[in-house]
Amino acid sequence: MKIELLKADITEIEVDAIVNAANTSLLGGGGVDGAIHRKGGKAILEACIQIRNKQGSCKTGEAVITTAGNLPSKYVIHTVGPVWNGDKEEKSKLLADCYTNSLNLAIQHGIKSIAFPNISTGIYHFPKDKAAEIAVKTVKDFEKSAVIEKVTFVCFDDENYKIYKSLL
Ligand code: ADP
Repeated sequence: MKIELLKADITEIEVDAIVNAANTSLLGGGGVDGAIHRKGGKAILEACIQIRNKQGSCKTGEAVITTAGNLPSKYVIHTVGPVWNGDKEEKSKLLADCYTNSLNLAIQHGIKSIAFPNISTGIYHFPKDKAAEIAVKTVKDFEKSAVIEKVTFVCFDDENYKIYKSLL
């Protein structure tokens, strides 16, 4: 598995799947979630509503997959990052689950290239350095990594980009 780092807008990345830092409602929100729904168009929201009708909301740490609508990727994997409050150890485990569950879902759909935003480091206030460490470690330790050809970490802000650069 190749690991790549980019400073970019994830809605412009051409890979099999981009990951969305969604919320439990799956109905869109601010930050990267807002950008994905805005640019991807209503097909993404419609697919999210169908998932909600079947399984209810998406729990923190879990992931679901939809079309990418008008985006250049084929799929969007929506995962719900933890809000940074309460039990820090539990929140760290949940953030790692976001990466593992997204990668497992990707494999189930034959996805070979996947791009992650810096989940939970915006509105959910997870410390950026700690979140980056968890992201990089979880992806590198992913047991079935041979099935995925490329993982791209997409940083939007300079601070995250610098942190990832030093880690990678
Ligand atoms: P969360 O609620 O999980 O914290 P946010 O969307 O608020 O989600 O932030 C997660 C990360 O996504 C932040 O580091 C933010 O800078 C980044 N981000 C925001 N917009 C985009 C975008 N268009 N492409 C990639 N990353 C983005």
